[in-house]
Amino acid sequence: MKIITKNYEETQQAGELLAKEIKKTPLVVALEGDLGAGKTTFIQGMARGMGIKEQITSPTFVIMKRYGLSDGFFYHLDCYRLNSSKDVLDLGFKEIIRPGNIIVIEWAEKIKDILPENTLWLKFEYLDKDRREIETR
Ligand code: ADP
Ligand code: MG
Repeated sequence: MKIITKNYEETQQAGELLAKEIKKTPLVVALEGDLGAGKTTFIQGMARGMGIKEQITSPTFVIMKRYGLSDGFFYHLDCYRLNSSKDVLDLGFKEIIRPGNIIVIEWAEKIKDILPENTLWLKFEYLDKDRREIETR
């Protein structure tokens, strides 16, 4: 599936829609795409769709942030600065893949060797100043 959003709100709405469709957990959502392609914007919408009230910002400097859900946690990871999957494993990555949790990962291609088989992959592309393409693979 492929969609083109025309402003950041549409990208947030796409994330919100996906969040509302999530029926089974744990789920890993892997986001690929360059800086500015809309990954964090999409995740803000997902968080809103899951009822998270806090403001989601990019966790680039801390790698991983955690937000409470009714029966688990919403984890937001950003692997931009990572060189290997081991850094994420050292944070206890394997233990967070458990029922009740949703795990969304920016620059997920950097740690693809440790992601579950059923990971949902989304590819983000910058088309022009306001348009972004989001494609599932
Ligand atoms: P990434 O996390 O992929 O680096 P961000 O979501 O942080 O990207 O940044 C996207 C930037 O592009 C934001 O400043 C946002 O306002 C802007 N933008 C413009 N049009 C769009 C769009 N259609 N979708 C998402 N972001 C957009
Ligand atoms: Mg980002």
